Amino acid sequence: MEKLYSHNIRDLIKVDLHRHLDCSVRWSTLIELAPLVGIPLADTVQGQKDQFLITGPMTDLGSVLNKFLNAQKVLASEEILTRIAYEACEDAFNDGIRVLELRYAPTFIADGHSELNFEKIHRSLAEGVLLAKKTYPMAVGLICIVQRIKSYDVAAEVVDFAIDKKGSFVALDLADNEDGFDPKIFAPLFQKAKKAGLHLTVHSGETPNSAPWVKDSIEILGAERIGHGIQIINDPAVLNFVKEKKIPLEICPISNYLTQSFKTYEEHPIRKLMEAGVQVTVNSDDPGVFATTLSDDYEVLHRVHGFTKADFARCNQIAFNASFISESEKNQFKKDFF
Ligand SMILES: [Zn+2]
Repeated sequence: MEKLYSHNIRDLIKVDLHRHLDCSVRWSTLIELAPLVGIPLADTVQGQKDQFLITGPMTDLGSVLNKFLNAQKVLASEEILTRIAYEACEDAFNDGIRVLELRYAPTFIADGHSELNFEKIHRSLAEGVLLAKKTYPMAVGLICIVQRIKSYDVAAEVVDFAIDKKGSFVALDLADNEDGFDPKIFAPLFQKAKKAGLHLTVHSGETPNSAPWVKDSIEILGAERIGHGIQIINDPAVLNFVKEKKIPLEICPISNYLTQSFKTYEEHPIRKLMEAGVQVTVNSDDPGVFATTLSDDYEVLHRVHGFTKADFARCNQIAFNASFISESEKNQFKKDFF
């Protein structure tokens, strides 16, 4: 098998369809800003990493949530939001990404930040993206996340906001833990968003036994792509359905290991899904909180599943075609992938 070194992988031109902007804060920015917003830093570097980062498989959900919340507290002003959006694009560009979709949940960022509202949050993040695009040749799109753990009324408010800003959002997403949160109740909201011209993706089939939700997310919510979807490997009927509908999966290998969707990288089904004819893409999910890059995900796939340059090229072609960014914007980068 061809051997790919880190720099070979970093130099590959990539698409990232699944990256949470609010969990992509650069490490140096995080520890610079934390004391300024009232989060005292631990004395040691390891202690600081333990405060904010998830670098090993999760066992204790409580401490994981605390880390997300610590990182969220840093997102405290419009200036900070513009900066982190700019830097998220910059980091992605430096990792070889030329087509980038960044998603965020207005409700997650707004929580506890009384001086921010959806309007200010979106304007600040969109400004950061715009500045980055002036500096770096890349296509960037924003996706609005509905948190399924919030009430239906809050979800409706977020969907109306996304529709109102459809000029600067390319799509709507449904995220957070699926266990006990039936996606079907959101169907009217997703249909409304679709009618208004937004694309749809849904986090589904991430945790064990969640394959049936994938079919519901496609059939009932109208998802055009699925975030994760890896559990369909355990449900041949759903796998066939996804394959026949040609619904791309936004797969995030390191994230799936850290959340223990699969116990080891060896057990991760990405290769089997590819071989079964499912449309597979490779993405980073939360590179800030995981202290990773998309290239790290590629390295895992190269090392553990023997992914070659040709495999990565195929995934990136699928991702390019599946990107919700307008044809006119992304086609400037088409020659990098085909
Ligand atoms: Zn995600």
